[in-house]
Amino acid sequence: NRYWTLSGKPIGGWPEADTFELREGPMPTPGEGQALTRTIYVSLDPYQWAYKRRGTEAPGAPCHARTVSQVVESRIPGLSPGDFVFNTNGWSEYALMGEGVPRPGYMVPRKLDPAKGKISQAVGVLGMLGLTAYAGMVVQCGAKAGDTVVVTAASGGVGQIAGQLAKLRGARVVGVAGKPDKCRFVTETLGFDACVSHLSPTLAQDLAAACPDGVDVYFENVGGPSFEAVLPLFKPGARMTICGLISTYGDAPGEDPRAMEARRAGERGVTVTDLFVGDYVDSHHAAMLAELGPAVADGRVKYLEDIREGLETIPQAFAEMLKGGNFGKMLVRIAED
Ligand code: NDP
Repeated sequence: NRYWTLSGKPIGGWPEADTFELREGPMPTPGEGQALTRTIYVSLDPYQWAYKRRGTEAPGAPCHARTVSQVVESRIPGLSPGDFVFNTNGWSEYALMGEGVPRPGYMVPRKLDPAKGKISQAVGVLGMLGLTAYAGMVVQCGAKAGDTVVVTAASGGVGQIAGQLAKLRGARVVGVAGKPDKCRFVTETLGFDACVSHLSPTLAQDLAAACPDGVDVYFENVGGPSFEAVLPLFKPGARMTICGLISTYGDAPGEDPRAMEARRAGERGVTVTDLFVGDYVDSHHAAMLAELGPAVADGRVKYLEDIREGLETIPQAFAEMLKGGNFGKMLVRIAED
């Protein structure tokens, strides 16, 4: 059973080639109430870098990740070999799930029905990313017709869904993304009304031109210059969700960037809400699935995945994703689905 672990080298701002190490261990044996599963899709998410920098993971242990896996051997009632599951196998070919297997409390393993959507989407639009977008855009910001909504990392896993949820509610939606092909995708495929590039030296002017009546809702995924560009455009009564600040995830410790943005937007009269998706699993997962399940199935909501191949590619794909090298939700397929 091969898996990636932290090598134990000091962790700097961003992942480096020697941050991770590929190891081989024995095949785990399921005890009572457990199942052995084979990992198919490994989800690579920005929060995993925070785990590593914070010391949540010990060198030697498999790196954490949400996964889509297939049951090999089961001692869990109702789960049989061949079943597909959402679980947290991490950057590992095989792992146990079930009783006594450590996992974040809100990442509850569940059996998947392949008839209800591509299994890879269980770690994306029909899972935590869909719920993140739904909680921020629908529940917290209450996006509605007449609003001008700005979404950063607009072509990414969360951003593409957040913007489309606002479009479905009749809002005017402006994306912020990096390279030209991403900006084109955001308008031409996702149907946002406009998209500006944070790589442009005229970002602030471009965003102001794309939002001539100001900004009612800001879904924040990035921070830094994008936030600075939105700040002067907020209208009275504007709402903002701080979902993530990926541009700061390699920063040295200092003033908490979430607190800084909340303070500065708050000074302009904006209602700012922090988002942690785990708080919405019990209350809104079902509502999210009821909307996004059919909308993805019939094509009203588009969802792009960036799927890399092979366990070996994980560290490189992870580092690329943190810097915008992904085009769509980043996943690695490490076994046949
Ligand atoms: P994405 O698929 O959006 O990938 C990250 C993207 O961030 C990149 O593709 C890149 O897009 C953009 N980016 C990276 N660095 C910069 C930078 N310096 N300036 C501008 N853009 C940058 O990832 P996710 O959808 O998984 O996550 C998006 C955000 O949502 C993250 O901040 C994440 O932490 C947050 N999140 C928060 C959750 C919560 O509970 N609050 C739950 C899940 C995610 P581009 O090339 O367009 O610049």
